[in-house]
Amino acid sequence: MVAKMLFSILISFFCFEICAQESKNSWDVILKTDDTSIQCKIIKVTDDNIEYKPNSKKPFLIIPRSDVKSIIYSDGAVVSFEKPKKVEQVQEINLKDVPQVREEICRNCRGSGTVRETCSTCNGRGKLHCTNCKNGKVLNWVIRYKKRAKFEEADCSKCNGTTQISCEECNQTGLVTATCRACSGSGKVTVSK
Ligand SMILES: [Zn+2]
Ligand SMILES: [Zn+2]
Ligand SMILES: [Zn+2]
Repeated sequence: MVAKMLFSILISFFCFEICAQESKNSWDVILKTDDTSIQCKIIKVTDDNIEYKPNSKKPFLIIPRSDVKSIIYSDGAVVSFEKPKKVEQVQEINLKDVPQVREEICRNCRGSGTVRETCSTCNGRGKLHCTNCKNGKVLNWVIRYKKRAKFEEADCSKCNGTTQISCEECNQTGLVTATCRACSGSGKVTVSK
């Protein structure tokens, strides 16, 4: 009698175990990219979303496919959504993100950040054409005693008759100091490795 009872208890326990195992296994599992998982029934998988019936009273829920690592179906089948193509893309971006460059002293200005440039005011001549005179001469209105007033030619006082005046912009050197355009004045340039 006791043995029979024990046996029936054992049987029912065994049955319960199987039933529990079965209900546990009848769920699909969504493994998310944040390493959490959802116990559910997969309804539909599209290119963008995964529709599923959750282990709750809600009829269905949708999550973006990009949030999902893989689905483990109740029959043990595993579908992974991590494409190798995606990994390649990530690597490409990483290579672009890490600049393969190093700093060098600017060759254009030898690191000074400035260059000597031809003076644009005098075009490098250091001198400018005198605008005060004509060929170094000026006409002055001269009145002399007992003579009729008249114009007399005289040397231009501005250029002393040379027709040339010195360029103040470059202090007659024909060169001016300018910011190096190759390095924007920093004296350094970045070059690709
Ligand atoms: Zn430079
Ligand atoms: Zn000049
Ligand atoms: Zn002059």
